[in-house]
Amino acid sequence: MEKKREIPYLVRPTTAVLTRGFDPRLSVGSARPAVFRSSTYVFNSPESAERAFAIALGKTRPEKGENVDLIYSRLSHPNAEILEDQIVPLEKGARAAAVFNSGMAAISTVCLSLCSPGWCVVHTVPVYGGTQHLFDTLLRPLGIQTIGVAAGDGVALDAAIAGAGNLVLVYLETPANPTLRMVDIRRAVAAARRHPDAPLVAVDNTFMGPAFQHPLALDADLVIYSGTKYLNGFSDLLAGVILSRDEELITHLRGTRAILGNILQPDECWLLDSRLPTVMLRMNRQSKNAQRIAESLAQHPAVRRVLYPSLLTEPDQIRIRDAQCEFPGAIMTLDLRGGKKAAFAFLRSLHILRDAVSLGGVESLACHPRTTTHSELSPEDLELAGITDGLVRISVGIEDWRDLQRDIRDALDGL
Ligand SMILES: *Cc1c(COP(=O)(O)O)cnc(C)c1O
Repeated sequence: MEKKREIPYLVRPTTAVLTRGFDPRLSVGSARPAVFRSSTYVFNSPESAERAFAIALGKTRPEKGENVDLIYSRLSHPNAEILEDQIVPLEKGARAAAVFNSGMAAISTVCLSLCSPGWCVVHTVPVYGGTQHLFDTLLRPLGIQTIGVAAGDGVALDAAIAGAGNLVLVYLETPANPTLRMVDIRRAVAAARRHPDAPLVAVDNTFMGPAFQHPLALDADLVIYSGTKYLNGFSDLLAGVILSRDEELITHLRGTRAILGNILQPDECWLLDSRLPTVMLRMNRQSKNAQRIAESLAQHPAVRRVLYPSLLTEPDQIRIRDAQCEFPGAIMTLDLRGGKKAAFAFLRSLHILRDAVSLGGVESLACHPRTTTHSELSPEDLELAGITDGLVRISVGIEDWRDLQRDIRDALDGL
C-alpha cells in the first residue's frame, strides 16, 4: 500500500478538495473512502478511552498529531471528519468546519449554542423561511429577542446593531431570498465590532458560496450553508455546514451538535464528499447560464423586472455586489406583470423547468415564493422584504442555456 503522502507545497482549493481529508491507508487502500456506518468504536485500551472522553468533554486538548480514539458516531465519525477536512479549503479564510444533517440543523445549532434568554439577535429580512420560523417559534418563546432589518438598508442595520442591548449575534443572509437584495457584509461586521457586547457575525452563504462570495475573508465569524443546495448539487440529500476561522468556536458548536444529535450521517457525508470536487464547475456553469438568460429577459413585455445581481440599478446595491460577489450566481427572480395569476400561468406552461422549491441542483426549478417558501411571513415582513404576488424564483441548472431560455421565453410569450 502507498505510504502516507504529504504534498510539500501549498495547493489551491480545487486541488485541495481532492487531496485533503482522506488517507487511503485507512480504507484498505481504496481510492474512495469507505463508508463507516458503525455507531460505536472500539477503544485501543481503557487508558485511550479515558483520554478520548477527556478530550471530547473539553477537559484537555489533543497533542499536535495525536490520534484520538473515536467514541460514538453522534459525537463524530470518520466520514464526518473526512468531509470536514475536505471542505475547509473551499471556503476562503476557514480553518475548521462542522457538518450537520440539514441546513436548518446547522442554523439551529448556531442559535442554540450562542443565544440564551435575555440576549438579542439582529438579522436581515427576509431570511430563509425555516430560519424565520426558528426565530419566531423557538427563540422568542425562550426569551431571545430578534430584530429584523430590511436587507440592503445599511443605515438601518447599523442603527439596529448599535441600539441593541445584550447583542449576541448578527445574522445575515445575502443575497436575500427571493429578492436578491445585497447586504454589505463588511459594513455589518464593522458595526458589530463597534458594539460593546462583541456579537458574532454569521452569514448564510447558501446562494453564492463557496464559489462566488467569501464572508470569512470579509471578516465575518461564521459561514453557514444549506449543503442541500449547491454544495451537493443533485437534489438528493439534506446537509448543513458551518465554517469558521476560529477552531474553538467550531469545537463548541460540535459540542452542541453532540447534545442535539444532528451530525450528518456517514452515507450522506460520503455522498456529499463525492460532490464537492465539482461544486466550482457546476456553479460556474449555472451562473453563466443564468446571466445569459436573465439579461435576455429583462426587456420582455410580460416582465416588470428581473431581480438578478448583474441587473441591479441602485448605486449602493451595485457597490456591494462589486465588493463581495465575484459572479452573479444562478438564482433569478422574475417580477411578472399580472401578479399571482400570471405567475401561476407561467409555472403551468413550463416544459423543462419544474415547479419545485429548493435550488442549487443541476436541474432548473421554479417556484412562487409568496404562496410557498415565504407564505408564512407576516404581511409587514412581506412588505418589508418586497415579496409581491408576481414574483417567480428560478434556480438555473446546468442544462443548455438556449433550451432553458426558450422554455422561459415561450411561457412568458403565452402570458
Ligand atoms: C434551503 C436553505 C436553508 C435550509 O436548509 P435545509 O438543508 O433545507 O435545512 C437555509 N438557508 C437557505 C438560504 C436555504 O436556501
